Amino acid sequence: PYDVLIVGGGPAGAAAAIYAARKGIRTGLVSENFGGQVAETVGIENMISMPYTEGPKLVAQMEQHVKEYDVDIITDQRAAGIRAGEYLELDLASEATLRSRAVILATGARWRELSVPGEQEYRNKGVAYCPHCDGPFYKGKRVAVIGGGNSGIEAAIDLAGIVEHVTVLEFADTLKADDVLQRKAQSLPNVEIIRNAQTTEVTGDGKKVTGLLYTDRATGESRSVEVAGIFVQIGLIPNSEWLKGSDIELSRFGEIEIDARGATSMPGVFAAGDVTTEPYKQIVIAMGAGSTAALSAFDHLIRTPDP
Ligand code: FAD
Repeated sequence: PYDVLIVGGGPAGAAAAIYAARKGIRTGLVSENFGGQVAETVGIENMISMPYTEGPKLVAQMEQHVKEYDVDIITDQRAAGIRAGEYLELDLASEATLRSRAVILATGARWRELSVPGEQEYRNKGVAYCPHCDGPFYKGKRVAVIGGGNSGIEAAIDLAGIVEHVTVLEFADTLKADDVLQRKAQSLPNVEIIRNAQTTEVTGDGKKVTGLLYTDRATGESRSVEVAGIFVQIGLIPNSEWLKGSDIELSRFGEIEIDARGATSMPGVFAAGDVTTEPYKQIVIAMGAGSTAALSAFDHLIRTPDP
């Protein structure tokens, strides 16, 4: 058995592995892949101390850093459940079971996609999911935000201070965002909100986004908007489906509930990064949370007898 077993190979999992291994304890990391969402990212400008880097480069550096230590890395494996026993037991989809005294859950999240033509083709070429990350790339340009919930309206307010103009497209006939956010967005001269708009296609010139098409659901007419960037804000889905039915408490959005030490509701199980209730989903935040979870796991181990 391991002392600490980390599930997930993104920035939270990598940081947890380094912090755990540096305590000289038996550390394992099991994941579907190494890198997580960072592997899908092109430009990164908010990794503190690196004014600019790219996803694949950061993934290679994270992996190299983890490999400086004695960490048992198991990839291409999907966790399917967790149980308490003499040790904590992590069941894999391959039907193997890994045992550990403490477990750190760092399975991240994925953005809900529009699933319209052009979205995949122009991903990272104008189609973006994270305003904190990619907003500054559109300085002085026109952009669209798809989604009128809290994250969409927050994104519109945030982007309005950077870009020339923001068009928000909401599918329903009303916005779901909090009133205070709606009022703020409506007060901004460079934000336009279109309701009843079903986005049907991302358009581009073969290299980058040039706009989008939507159907006005009230009239059935098809319309176009010319923009350089499209921020899709229709939800972030935590990779926690496999924990439903376990003793791990999830929020109503499916995020793992953690306290300030990264502890979950299950003794010996900690969690970090985008899969948790941490409100801000960012690389440096996930790394910090992974470190917190590993230190808490170590603290748990020194207080608990080895079975
Ligand atoms: P993830 O990176 O999601 O990693 C989760 C890991 O868990 C993966 O290795 C996955 O394979 C594994 N996993 C999932 N389910 C299972 C399972 N059941 N069993 C085993 N393994 C599993 N943030 C920034 O700070 N700056 C940016 O510029 C930036 N740009 C972004 C651009 C894009 C396109 C995207 C999608 C995100 C961006 N982000 C950015 C957000 C950032 O990538 C995330 O906040 C960060 O990766 C979260 O780290 P994590 O370790 O919690 O999860």
